[in-house]
Amino acid sequence: MKKGDFVLLAVTGVLLGLVIFIVFFKPNAGFATVYEDGTVIASFPLNTDITEKIETQDGHYNILKISGGEVSVLEADCKNQICVNTRPVKRIGDSIICLPHKISIVLEKDRKE
Ligand SMILES: [Zn+2]
Repeated sequence: MKKGDFVLLAVTGVLLGLVIFIVFFKPNAGFATVYEDGTVIASFPLNTDITEKIETQDGHYNILKISGGEVSVLEADCKNQICVNTRPVKRIGDSIICLPHKISIVLEKDRKE
C-alpha cells in the first residue's frame, strides 16, 4: 500500500466514523414546525400523539401524524406523494417536504413561533 492510499483510507475512516456518530447520536427533536412557503404555520410538540390536518392556502391538505415522537404524513392530495412515502422522522434537522404544496415539516429542538 502506498502512503497516499493509507492517508485516503484514514480520511475515509474518520469521515465514516463521523457520519455514524451523527446518525446515531443526533438528538431527538422536541417540536415539528410546519412551514408553508417559508412561513411558520404550525408547531406541534412531539411528546403528544396527534393526527392533524394541515390545510394549505390554495385548498390542499397534508395529514400530519405524530406518534411515539415520530412524525409522518399519513395522507395528502399532492401529485407526487413523496411526503406520504417519506419514512417517519424524529431527530433534529430531519424534515418531510411536500414540494407541490410548498409545505415543509422540520424537526427542531424548540418551538418556533
Ligand atoms: Zn406531498
